[in-house]
Amino acid sequence: METRRPTNPAAEEILGLYFPVLDHGFVSLVDYMGSDEDVERAARVSYGYGTRRTSETRGLIRYLRRHRHTTPSEMVELKFHCALPIFVARQWVRHRAANLNEYSGRYSLLPLLFYTPEPDAFQAQAKTNRQGRGGAPLAEAHADAVARWESLRRLAAEQYEWLVGRDVARELARIDLPLSTYTQWYWKIDLHNLFHFLTVRADPHAQHEIRVFARVIAGMLKRVAPLSFEAWVDYEFRGTHLSRGELDALRRLVGVAGGGLEARPGRVTPEELARLGLSKREVDELLAKIGDARDDEDFDLDLTAARPAEHFAREMEAAVPRVDRR
Ligand SMILES: Cc1cc2nc3c(=O)[nH]c(=O)nc-3n(C[C@H](O)[C@H](O)[C@H](O)COP(=O)(O)OP(=O)(O)OC[C@H]3O[C@@H](n4cnc5c(N)ncnc54)[C@H](O)[C@@H]3O)c2cc1C
Repeated sequence: METRRPTNPAAEEILGLYFPVLDHGFVSLVDYMGSDEDVERAARVSYGYGTRRTSETRGLIRYLRRHRHTTPSEMVELKFHCALPIFVARQWVRHRAANLNEYSGRYSLLPLLFYTPEPDAFQAQAKTNRQGRGGAPLAEAHADAVARWESLRRLAAEQYEWLVGRDVARELARIDLPLSTYTQWYWKIDLHNLFHFLTVRADPHAQHEIRVFARVIAGMLKRVAPLSFEAWVDYEFRGTHLSRGELDALRRLVGVAGGGLEARPGRVTPEELARLGLSKREVDELLAKIGDARDDEDFDLDLTAARPAEHFAREMEAAVPRVDRR
């Protein structure tokens, strides 16, 4: 039966396809409700399906996002199926304004799949951003680290198998599985809260392992609501907010004249920035905001990487402890 619901051909094309992320993870767009037109319809509280031109819809959506009129975007929802390491899940669940149902390790046997960082992602503790990593990959230590991870995981997996093999409750058998173990969930979120998730998790400062998931989700969203996505990129993801001190500093260099902008001669020294109330850290952040142009990623999905659900279902099934298959 044909649907009368608003759908988007680009989103329909990827519905139910599974996109690999990290070594054993995936994201799939399971379902969605609404698109850009629904944001507009909700904002105008209008009757029925409209015949407005795309340019009008775009203008309204951009206006709403610029002025943080966000409730119309709560009318669009997206539902995902994801497989992700537990340490990524722990960051992800902090986004409380969403619904999720996780694979039950109390009821089902857990697939013993563990995340191993690629050599490129294996870096030292960052010197400046103290909660991240940075610098050249630690090429020499990678092989040793992998060997150590593997031996630890072998022990943890054997212990899990031993316990479930003796019919110990699964809720107890799992307690020493490492944070690298993959879990799965269904996750549903509205467009407004998804933008917040993407703003912080697709950001270059986010941990690499959650950022790669966020980027795939961003690519999916681009297909569901392309005009809203474009506005988010322009005003939030590649845009920025400025504090009073930062604005005062910029006003010393740029003025308003004749309906346009006018450059003012001179420079604002670090001492003047300090006098304007900016701490050393704020100065660094201001310089980064202006100096570092965001990389120009387009978030387009690589459709050739997509797999059918069965591909991952088989991998998960094969990783469930042998005791279950006797
Ligand atoms: C760089 C970075 C570092 C972080 N470090 C840590 C860390 O060290 N430890 C840690 O625990 N978390 C950390 N977080 C998580 C962070 O503090 C937020 O919990 C997370 O980004 C989710 O944001 P949120 O609460 O706005 O989103 P959601 O939970 O999705 O909430 C959405 C919005 O709903 C409202 N809301 C939701 N729940 C409540 C509530 N109970 N009361 C009032 N308003 C509510 C708020 O307006 C909120 O912005 C970090 C996040 C980032 C990006």
